[in-house]
Amino acid sequence: MPMEPERDRCLLTECEPCQNPGEPCRFCSGTGWWRPESPRRDENGVISWVRVEEPCRMCASTGNEHNPVRPLF
Ligand SMILES: [Zn+2]
Ligand SMILES: [Zn+2]
Repeated sequence: MPMEPERDRCLLTECEPCQNPGEPCRFCSGTGWWRPESPRRDENGVISWVRVEEPCRMCASTGNEHNPVRPLF
């Protein structure tokens, strides 16, 4: 299970949070990954929640707090 930020920097060339990392991202706790739950419907129509792991969109998987959040992907 990857628990390290996937990237050092986001896609912005001039990015203050990436050049001077401050607070860890509040959405992923600085890991660069978040684990939301997404709904899955089985053949009986019963919805269950499955935990998935995705790169954190709020910090472009850098683990650095980006505030304000920008379009990073
Ligand atoms: Zn950045
Ligand atoms: Zn994050």
